[in-house]
Amino acid sequence: MLEKSLNWIRPVIKEIQAYHVADASGLIKLDAMENPYQLPDDLKSKLQVELSKADLNRYPDPSASRLREKLSQVMQVPAGKSIVLGNGSDELIQMLAMAVADHEGDNDVCLMSFDPGFVMYKMIAAFVGLEYVGVPLRDDFTIDMEKTRRSIQQNSPAIIFVAYPNNPSANCYSEKDIEEIIALAPGMVVLDEAYHPFAQSSFMDRLTRYDNLLVMRTVSKMGLAGLRMGLLCGHPDIIREIDKIRLPYNINVLTQISAEFVLDNVEVLNQQAKLIRDERELLMTKMSAMSGLQVFPSQANFILFRVLNGEGAESANDVFDSIKKSGVLIKNMKADTGLLKDCLRVTVGSPEENQAFVSALSKAMNIR
Ligand SMILES: *Cc1c(COP(=O)(O)O)cnc(C)c1O
Repeated sequence: MLEKSLNWIRPVIKEIQAYHVADASGLIKLDAMENPYQLPDDLKSKLQVELSKADLNRYPDPSASRLREKLSQVMQVPAGKSIVLGNGSDELIQMLAMAVADHEGDNDVCLMSFDPGFVMYKMIAAFVGLEYVGVPLRDDFTIDMEKTRRSIQQNSPAIIFVAYPNNPSANCYSEKDIEEIIALAPGMVVLDEAYHPFAQSSFMDRLTRYDNLLVMRTVSKMGLAGLRMGLLCGHPDIIREIDKIRLPYNINVLTQISAEFVLDNVEVLNQQAKLIRDERELLMTKMSAMSGLQVFPSQANFILFRVLNGEGAESANDVFDSIKKSGVLIKNMKADTGLLKDCLRVTVGSPEENQAFVSALSKAMNIR
């Protein structure tokens, strides 16, 4: 009977490798772009009072209108544009994909992005039966416009996702290239600005200029990854359609209360983001001074770097393992070839965590 049940699972689903979250118990956790800082104690106590007032017996406000109002101010969404909320921006990617997936027509509907890029675009495309096209980036992780123009022409993508800055490479693409992509696109272009607090450049104000542009943000990398809340902003006619796919109570009451509370005190998160940006520069300087590494520029809260193969050198895998043995968990991109060959990725943490990482890294490099 089990066999019969499993036979119904689509082959594309069976082929997918489940999104792997590494076990970080007992380790300094620098693998997932989390903000190392908590809310200050006085704010935590105030938040507790707010949360104790929650009507847990009632369904939450289905449209979270007060929260959307606050987000619209804090995130400077242009007047006349709409917002739909997701349980993390991952859920928004899923809603967008479901909105364009068409199993009745003859043509394969295509979702486009850039490789290497954020893995969820490709995974979600597979979940809903969309074709995924990843346009390869250049060696320095910039967009290859010639390939991009050709690919848009050939595949006519329903949606193009542009992570700005990109994950895992941490760079922002050229604004001019993105504007050309928005102009050429036959459908929607989603600027995924998950790392906006660290990049500080944005396409939000360009929503007034392009009707096919959507801007996606999340509170995850700002320091509220546990809340699970993202937002998609754009033309009201597009947002209205996406909103139909949203499950009615996707933003739970505790998230709504917590997010509103933190947005009322957003200067705390802004201050934390500034600390992280300063730490990033410090970490960048220290890593760039080490031999045997290629460190890529970052406008996010993480740094991508390559372990260079010198004489008698050990692999990126060995360096990763050694850092882990020293008690620090980072991310191994696990690539033997391609643009991410021998690359590791570290999240910028607190000064103490970063120092622990730098010590672990230099120890790993000296063993080589
Ligand atoms: C982390 C990340 C997200 C996911 O954000 P959630 O809101 O936590 O789901 C989206 N896009 C990119 C590029 C990311 O790196």
